[in-house]
Amino acid sequence: MALATLKDVLAKREDARAVGAFSTYDLFSAQGVIQGAEKENLPVIVMMGAPVLAKPGNEYIAKNLVSLAEEAKVPVVVFLDHAKDYATCLKAMKLGFSAVMIDGSHFSLEENIHLTAKVVETAQHLGISVEGELGALAGLEDGEEVKNSKMTDPTKVRQFVENTGIDALAVSIGNAHGLYKGEPNLNFDTLRQCEQASPIPLVLHGGTGLTQEQFALAVQCGIKKINIGTEIKKSYIEAFVATQGQNPAAYDLIGIPQACKEAVSGVAAEKLRFFAADWAKFIN
Ligand SMILES: [Zn+2]
Repeated sequence: MALATLKDVLAKREDARAVGAFSTYDLFSAQGVIQGAEKENLPVIVMMGAPVLAKPGNEYIAKNLVSLAEEAKVPVVVFLDHAKDYATCLKAMKLGFSAVMIDGSHFSLEENIHLTAKVVETAQHLGISVEGELGALAGLEDGEEVKNSKMTDPTKVRQFVENTGIDALAVSIGNAHGLYKGEPNLNFDTLRQCEQASPIPLVLHGGTGLTQEQFALAVQCGIKKINIGTEIKKSYIEAFVATQGQNPAAYDLIGIPQACKEAVSGVAAEKLRFFAADWAKFIN
């Protein structure tokens, strides 16, 4: 019985630590993430992207996530990532998710507020947390490309949070989805201004490819949730290919998924530990 909400797991403002949020795609990636969290005895956020949930039959994976969370030894948030509309959020809420992200960042500020507030109204009745996004991230989100990225405007943060009632806010400060082209360049001044303006925890998307120093500075500046997607996929696929390559004639569909699970577990454990405490070693 460990299904938790964002409110349950995200640290308070004065408590400088972040919780890892990891994209999952099937039973094995989800089990790997939760196993990593149990190994570290830390709370975790297991995410399913809206484009993943939209695939035929994948609502059964969603139901698996909820069951796994309920039986986990640590608090687990089951989180819908980057829903673009109300109906997708409602679908996830009905499936038992404990948190949803409504991403209205492609709309005008007014439209974003309107859509996000509508999701919050429903979610609050059900005790479900909501994450919103202000500014837009570059890159691919589970196969969907964002064409026009824009930085979060710190002067709009308080208005957005107060008019929507969200529990957490994703910011755009130079971070991007997928693999970075060249060195990622984060604007920590903008992040500090957003943090000053925001009465709720801030979220950093696009964690794959950031340096340990950048993660550390982000946590020091007040980031409370860090999303990791690509690194989960990379570890899973690399383990799959390597294990298959060891004995190609075996087509070992019993052993290969277990190897993938272990690889994902290792990534999740290392990141969770870093975001919770180890980051401080990288602050000069
Ligand atoms: Zn994202």
